[in-house]
Amino acid sequence: MVKTKKNPRCGIGHQEPERTGGSIGMVVKTYKNADGNIRIEIDYDKCTGAAVCVDVCPSAVFELVKKKATAPNIDACVECCACVQNCPEGAIKHSAC
Ligand code: SF4
Ligand code: SF4
Repeated sequence: MVKTKKNPRCGIGHQEPERTGGSIGMVVKTYKNADGNIRIEIDYDKCTGAAVCVDVCPSAVFELVKKKATAPNIDACVECCACVQNCPEGAIKHSAC
């Protein structure tokens, strides 16, 4: 019978960490309105701070903070999808679009 060596550092076996499918380093900021029926996700790996979302949103939902889009005024969203359709980086996901 062949004996297997234990890890010399701690003497016990180790399990490989489970992969969850998300890519390493990906940062997605999620906003929800007060009613909980509207969700906006902004992918900060993609967002370049182009501010097109700030310009096209008719409800002034977006604001740039440190050259990244935020959606502090999501409660004013009228679900027109202009942000999703016009972001040059495809950085915005919207529950209604
Ligand atoms: S338009 Fe897209 S890339 Fe530009 S600031 Fe908005 S989310 Fe970021
Ligand atoms: S869906 Fe329309 S109103 Fe809502 S955040 Fe996007 S551009 Fe603004």
